Amino acid sequence: MRSLPYFCRGEVVRGFGRGSKELGIPTANFPDSVVDHLPGDIDTGIYYGWACVGHGDVHKMVMSIGWNPYYKNTKKSMETHIIHTFNEDFYGEILSIVIVGYIRPEKSFESLDSLITAIYSDISEAKEKLDVPEHQCMKDDNFFRSIETNIMNGH
Ligand code: ADP
Ligand code: MG
Repeated sequence: MRSLPYFCRGEVVRGFGRGSKELGIPTANFPDSVVDHLPGDIDTGIYYGWACVGHGDVHKMVMSIGWNPYYKNTKKSMETHIIHTFNEDFYGEILSIVIVGYIRPEKSFESLDSLITAIYSDISEAKEKLDVPEHQCMKDDNFFRSIETNIMNGH
């Protein structure tokens, strides 16, 4: 995918209330304005990269890019699970991410258990891949340290 690495940021909004948090895998959703800018060659599927909430630390993440049921599956959605335990929800905060690689296509699962198993395997794959030097350096990218300036400039 030519568009990777892909940097973007936006406000964390309420998602579909699918109960991801109850599964222990909360996913922070981006608004349509962010999803609409996603380059066309970034297909649906599971990706990995780095994420930071507000001015906080940069953590590993896995992201699902899927079809948005609210728009009868004609528009994409972007949901980020940050591989870190937060003490509180962060709706309304600015989430900055860089997508660096692709894990697998979207799949439908026969059971909740097989879905959860797949997500845990995605998480360990993401953790491992992000440890290579090529991806580690993305963590220190200026993008994560220049939040106000970038928002003012519309990036
Ligand atoms: P929603 O349907 O509103 O997206 P979720 O059950 O997916 O609800 O929970 C997502 C919310 O959980 C995020 O918007 C964020 O405020 C919070 N949250 C707490 N920890 C994390 C995390 N590690 N990764 C992503 N979101 C988290
Ligand atoms: Mg969610």
